[in-house]
Amino acid sequence: MTDPNSSLSEAALAAAARFGPHPAPGTRVRTAGEMAEVESDLNPVVGDDSTPLAKSVEHHLLVTEGRRLRAPLTRPDETRVLVVANQKGGVGKTTTTVNVAAALAQQGQRVLVVDLDPQGNASTALSIEHHRGVPSVYDTLIDGVPLAEVLQASPEIDGLWAVPATIDLAGAEIELVSVVARESRLRRALQTCLAERTGDERFDYVLIDCPPSLGLLTLNALVAGVEMLIPIQAEYYALEGLGQLLETVEMVKAHLNPELVVSTILLTMYDARTRLSAGVAEEVRAHFTDRVLSTAIPRSVRISEAPSYGQTVMTYDPGSPGALSYLEAAREMALKGARR
Ligand code: ADP
Ligand code: MG
Repeated sequence: MTDPNSSLSEAALAAAARFGPHPAPGTRVRTAGEMAEVESDLNPVVGDDSTPLAKSVEHHLLVTEGRRLRAPLTRPDETRVLVVANQKGGVGKTTTTVNVAAALAQQGQRVLVVDLDPQGNASTALSIEHHRGVPSVYDTLIDGVPLAEVLQASPEIDGLWAVPATIDLAGAEIELVSVVARESRLRRALQTCLAERTGDERFDYVLIDCPPSLGLLTLNALVAGVEMLIPIQAEYYALEGLGQLLETVEMVKAHLNPELVVSTILLTMYDARTRLSAGVAEEVRAHFTDRVLSTAIPRSVRISEAPSYGQTVMTYDPGSPGALSYLEAAREMALKGARR
């Protein structure tokens, strides 16, 4: 047991040591169990019977200190454009997009999220206005409105911007069919936007949250992006449909965007207590080897609660295992650098 009187910074040190930049040799995935253990390590310091507010403030301090104890993230040489895609619904695309984006922004990066799902879940989680009539990615795709005119700054997190998706986007899949250069509308808009912002103004990361289908919206993302981040839910049917996704990627590479690479795989909703999760992790790693981040995201109620408060878990409960996992996953991704 940790001494309840031990200073915050000691606890933060311990947390930092445990969540250091590189996993211990032989560590395959970090598990919910390990994350939970860390939380219980911190509990004697935080005090179980403290009020939720006090606990959350303490957690926040721990996380902030833990972060400061490690080397800050340097900005990438050029903007990294990541497409978060998987045509399966409910695997954690949106959750991953907003939390990785928030984690990167909290570590000093300038991040743009493009919500490309008509459901607008990423916009909701980031508290970005997206009711009908708000200028959105729909206007960019269909009417060629510059992204700079539709993006909004996050009210919660510095260094984070988002392009909202409104319900209008539901019709875009069909409307795009008759539009000129229909699969490269987003690419053009993004390139213009990125070219306008240089130096300190430059975006370091662009994350595109795709809808759960392989239609024209996802195609626009695959043509606009360079790297793909595929979240895979650690459950039985996880790998089903992945073949189809990879075939689509090959098709896009061959005809539309030769630069595209599957750079990053993230295991989500990982449950360390089940052999199933471990089995899926093993299978995914056998196929994608070092492209799989060693940090897995545990199943966590806090992660799923955050959007209903218009927040990411990174601000909703920064000390929770889910937030720490996303912080670590984002860091790992940033430190690995772009893969070509
Ligand atoms: P997708 O965008 O792929 O459809 P979401 O990110 O919307 O998937 O996630 C689907 C559901 O699962 C959401 O209700 C979300 O809150 C929940 N969820 C995602 N990741 C986790 C997690 N690590 N733990 C618990 N719930 C999660
Ligand atoms: Mg989604």
